Formats: sequence, C-alpha cells, structure tokens
Amino acid sequence: MLEADTSSEIDDRLGAMLGTSLPPAHAKLQQICREFADEVLIPSADLHDREESYPAKIVERLANLGLMGILAPKRYGGMEMDNLGLTIALEEINRGCASTGVTLSVHNSLLSGPLLHFGTEEQQKNFFPRLASGEALGAYAITEPNHGSDAVAIETTCRRDGDDWILNGTKAWITNGSHAGIIITFATVDPALRSKGINAFVVESSMPGFSVGKKEKKLGIRASDTVQLVFEDLRVPAANLLGEEGQGFKIAMHTLDGGRIGIATQAVGIAQACLDATVKFAERHEMFGRKLADNQLASNKIANMATRTEAARLLTYRAAMLKDAGLPHSREASMAKLSASEIANDAARMALEVHGGAGLGRQNPVERLFRDAKITEIYEGTSQIQRLVISRHVRPDRG
Ligand SMILES: Cc1cc2nc3c(=O)[nH]c(=O)nc-3n(C[C@H](O)[C@H](O)[C@H](O)COP(=O)(O)OP(=O)(O)OC[C@H]3O[C@@H](n4cnc5c(N)ncnc54)[C@H](O)[C@@H]3O)c2cc1C
Repeated sequence: MLEADTSSEIDDRLGAMLGTSLPPAHAKLQQICREFADEVLIPSADLHDREESYPAKIVERLANLGLMGILAPKRYGGMEMDNLGLTIALEEINRGCASTGVTLSVHNSLLSGPLLHFGTEEQQKNFFPRLASGEALGAYAITEPNHGSDAVAIETTCRRDGDDWILNGTKAWITNGSHAGIIITFATVDPALRSKGINAFVVESSMPGFSVGKKEKKLGIRASDTVQLVFEDLRVPAANLLGEEGQGFKIAMHTLDGGRIGIATQAVGIAQACLDATVKFAERHEMFGRKLADNQLASNKIANMATRTEAARLLTYRAAMLKDAGLPHSREASMAKLSASEIANDAARMALEVHGGAGLGRQNPVERLFRDAKITEIYEGTSQIQRLVISRHVRPDRG
C-alpha cells in the first residue's frame, strides 16, 4: 500500500514509477492477467458475446488465480492488493473481454471495497472467505426501474422487525445479479427523508423473499449478467446492516468513487484492445501498393488512439493511487471515468473506420468492442453526472 500525505507526492511517485517499472507485486499481477487475457479471454470473448452467456467457467478460472479476492484481506484468503493493483489487473482483463471485466470489477470494487471500508470484523469474517475464494459472486444494487442517476429518490423500503430488517422493492440493471450470492443493496426507511433515510445492507440470495426478475438483453457487454432483483418481504438480519443507520447514501457514493476507477479501467482496457486490433490490421492490410499503416491518415489515427489511451491510463492510475493513500479522490475518479470512457468510444469508432467494411462484420472483434465501449459512458454515473461532480469540485462555492 502506498503512503503519501499530499497529491503532489503521488504525482512524483507516479512519474518515477512510469519512468521505470511497476512495484514487483503489481508487475507480477499484471503479467498473470495479461497472459490470461491473451490465452483465454481474447480467443473466447466473441463466442460468449454471440451466445450472450455468462462465462461461468472463466470466472472459475479467475477464482483459481486468486482474482476474486484482489482487495480482500490475506487472513480471509484474499490477495490484499491495493487499488492500483486492482486497476492494473482489471485493465488486462477488460482488454481481453469487457463482459468478464465488469463481472470482476463489480465483485472486487463494488462489493469488496465497501465491505473493507465499512464492514465490521464480524461481517468481513462472514463474507470475505466466500468472496475471495469465488464460492460467492458479489453484486451491488442501488438502481431501480424509476431511479438511476437520482439515487437519493430510491423507493425500496426497509423497516425494522425485531432482530431483522424487512426489505420490499425492485432493483434494476444489476450486474452479476442472477449469479450473485452476496449483494450490497440500499433501501430507505422513508423516501421523504431523502439521503438521511437510506440504509445499506449485505443481502444473501439465499434469504427468504429474494428473487431474480427479468434478464436484460443488451447492446454490449452481452456476456455479463444483468437482471432485476425483487425483494418481497426480504428478511435481513440486523447484523447485516453495513455501517450505521442512515449512512447508506454516504456508503453508496463512497463506493461509486472506487467503482468509477474500475469503469475508467474498463474503458482503458477497451481502448487498448481497439488500438491493438487497429495496429494489427493496418500492418497486414495492403492498399494502393503499400501497407495501410504507412498511410499518413491511418497512422494519424493510430497515434491519436495511443496517446489518448495513455492519458486515460495515467488519470486512472492517479485516482487509484490517491484512493490508496487515503486522500480525496472523488474529482479524480470522475475525471478518469469521464475521460477514459470518451476515449474508449473514440478509439472504438476509429478502429472500426480503419477496418473499413470488415469492421462491421460480426466475426470481427472491433464490432464487439464498438458495442462494448458504449456502456462505460453510462453506468456508475453517466458522463453528464461525472461532469456535474467535477464542476462542483472546481467551483468550491458549489461543493
Ligand atoms: C449494462 C448495465 C449494467 C448496470 N449495472 C448496475 C449495477 O450493477 N448496479 C446498479 O445499481 N446499477 C447498474 N446499472 C444502472 C446504471 O448505473 C444506470 O443506468 C445509470 O446510473 C443511469 O441511470 P438511468 O439509466 O436511470 O438513467 P437516468 O438517470 O434516467 O438518466 C437519463 C439521462 O438523463 C441524464 N441526466 C440525469 N441527471 C441529469 C442531470 N442532473 N443533468 C443533466 N443530465 C442528467 C443522464 O445523463 C442520462 O443521459 C447498470 C446499467 C447498465 C445499462
């Protein structure tokens, strides 16, 4: 774990690190994930996309590599890496397959993250061993059919009943929802109380009153599992309240700051995959008597993609390192997500253009990358919401 007192120390360290090499543990994790992406994910991503099938066997292999417990404490079977480590791992996995990437990102950053920060020792002891081993997949459920960006308006209710809480409501668009065993979810004691009424709970899918609703069919990340979750008098032990009563909205926002770094990382992985595919195609494809890569207009696109991808990566590393140092990182996480997601979508568009008609073929990975890139501008706060967050930070009177 990095220690730093100021953000300029982070900048010094970032500069030194990128000029030389990653710390050994991070470099090793990167190597493991890079090989897994090249050997397992890239060859199978198109098939899973076409079949729209959750890659259960691949998730099992991720668990065998220890990747379901990247942030989880060693005493509970995890790797106990920092957020920079998570970022480096997720970039490689997303480069190989964005559906697998979001599955892993939600599990590690949206579930392990808040459990580490807000969970009691008892809660960590109860949930981390199953999460880190991959026995239970994690999900995070705040969105509802009528409330996404305006999360403070959620309608799922909770009421205390003896030693339990009773939850009623429907959550929508929940990644990992139908395979998850452990879900962090949010409910209100009274919608009129707005943010002050919201509680966070660790729910298990085995609890009475929990069921999976409709499965979503999507433009991109088709192999990821996205469903509604229905709570009908869902009985949750009081011991599963995460944090204090009324702290739920704070927990949700704190978690999303980390999650946004995860989605920025996904976007960097997609942008890198677009760049790799474009370079490969332009080196191979000949026209007008020379390689496409030797055409200045094509090399211009490649240079832009490479430069922007590197810039997005730096913003993302910086946000992760600030989080690791315990420094404020909400602005930086939003900047990383906003910038990386727009760069990934631009890269996907440029990759498709360079491939010509072949880029639109279902057999071509850039067709999938083009569809997969879009979601990075939407979930865990749309680009409009990121701009609102950033502008509030740079206008202190609106903070
Ligand atoms: C594939 C997928 C996976 C997802 N996974 C999860 C998950 O695991 N857990 C979870 O809880 N949620 C998940 N979501 C939900 C996701 O986070 C929401 O879709 C997202 O936050 C946007 O909310 P919304 O869809 O309700 O759109 P809305 O909030 O209704 O927004 C509609 C439009 O209004 C704009 N807008 C909203 N507010 C403002 C404003 N103040 N100023 C200007 N424009 C504004 C938005 O930018 C958007 O363009 C997922 C969604 C998808 C598509």
